[in-house]
Amino acid sequence: MVNPSYISAVKNPIFRTISQASKNLNLESYVIGGFVRDFLLKRGEAKDIDIVTVGSGIELAQEVAKLLPGKPKVSIFKTYGTAMLKSGGIELEFVGARKESYSEESRNPAVENGTLDDDQNRRDFTINALAISLSDDTYGQLLDPFNGLADLDKKIIRTPLDPDVTYSDDPLRMLRAIRFATQLDFKIDNASLDSITRNAKRIKIISKERVVDELHKILLADVPSKGFTLLHKTGLLKFILPELVALQGIDEKEGQTHKDNFWHTLEVVDNISKATDDLWLRWAALLHDIGKAPTKKFDKKQGWTFHTHEFVGAKMVYKLFKRLKMPLNDKMKFVQKMVLMSSRPIVLASDVTDSAVRRLIFDAGEHVDDLMTLCEADITTKNPKKFKRYHANFKLVREKIVEVEERDQVRNFQPPVSGEEIMKTFNLKPSREIGIIKDAIKEAILEGEIPNDYEAAKEFMLKKGKEIGLKP
Ligand code: ATP
Repeated sequence: MVNPSYISAVKNPIFRTISQASKNLNLESYVIGGFVRDFLLKRGEAKDIDIVTVGSGIELAQEVAKLLPGKPKVSIFKTYGTAMLKSGGIELEFVGARKESYSEESRNPAVENGTLDDDQNRRDFTINALAISLSDDTYGQLLDPFNGLADLDKKIIRTPLDPDVTYSDDPLRMLRAIRFATQLDFKIDNASLDSITRNAKRIKIISKERVVDELHKILLADVPSKGFTLLHKTGLLKFILPELVALQGIDEKEGQTHKDNFWHTLEVVDNISKATDDLWLRWAALLHDIGKAPTKKFDKKQGWTFHTHEFVGAKMVYKLFKRLKMPLNDKMKFVQKMVLMSSRPIVLASDVTDSAVRRLIFDAGEHVDDLMTLCEADITTKNPKKFKRYHANFKLVREKIVEVEERDQVRNFQPPVSGEEIMKTFNLKPSREIGIIKDAIKEAILEGEIPNDYEAAKEFMLKKGKEIGLKP
């Protein structure tokens, strides 16, 4: 059978250079994986290109570098037998075709040299096993041993081998399946889905960093709920984010129910994804209600309540980030802050006073717009009247924020009178009184008793000083 030609996929001159280098070394080589898949899906030309050669990937990379203008540096990863170089904004990764065999406890296989067939067999999905030849006589021909092309067409994620073997060998592939289904809007083949469900607990052997990498990619997709629904239905989510699973379900007492906060959360994540590509704001949407499971209570008067869930949720964010080995830096603090403040604008929406808006801006600081975006995404009511009204209320809050900030500038609040000036004025050494006066000035500004300027603050300082028995 003559393989179809996809010469237009490899028209970038870099592929001719690889072809020439392969010829020099008398090697067969192929472009394989994501580049081919994304070309066929017309997702634009990928900047990461994987090259497989039947021989040494490292030697091929070195030969390619010799032929390229500027002779780029080759990074060699001896343990993996791979090499990488960058040229003209493209990252090329070279690997020798290999055969892999796995053991129970690890996703790192024993590796031996193999044929192209062996190499395609070890790939995760049929759509990622597609290869295009870079050898002189077959240049541009597609090698598709598992009908990956048909799966691309049918939008199906399927494993080349028995799915139980593929997923049990390397459980990370379970997350990759769900991630690709989400990113590409594909369906996971039923046999795969059953196998993932059967093998879900093996996700425990995967490093946290890898898991988080996939979670980030799912969260950054257009419709992240697709991925989280799959994670939940296959049973993976309870091993990764049990805090979310705990939100699922509706309790009823004395005829009163509350909403299912898991499915609500997924709606919020989809909503926010229409408004922002910011990964951490999307994380905040995903975690904004996690404090609701441990704080849920029922009493006769109030029905279902989740008092202090924002506070508890913010604490849980830290634990969750730590467990998943995510950075405990300003990104984590941002997510905590969003969770902690997630109900503030809602309270405000019914009564938009200047001082409440000033406090909101003061507390949210530079993140006040992000907070509003989160609150708007949080509107998931199916009642069209309420939907309209809530959005209109938040629009008012947003307008008020602009107005108040223009006038009072509390977003990046700097005390208009410094501690030093307070010390000088009242002839004080560093002491509690300074804090008391500074705090009182800040409060007076936020309450609108005085404007946010130096003269007013100085006058207020003198008055407050007298009140607590200080003499200028
Ligand atoms: P993306 O860049 O969007 O993540 P990609 O397919 O290029 O997509 P990579 O992680 O760069 O993903 O992997 C490149 C190729 O290596 C894949 O297309 C696949 O053929 C193979 N591959 C990667 N990870 C695995 C794995 N865990 N098991 C089997 N094959 C894999």
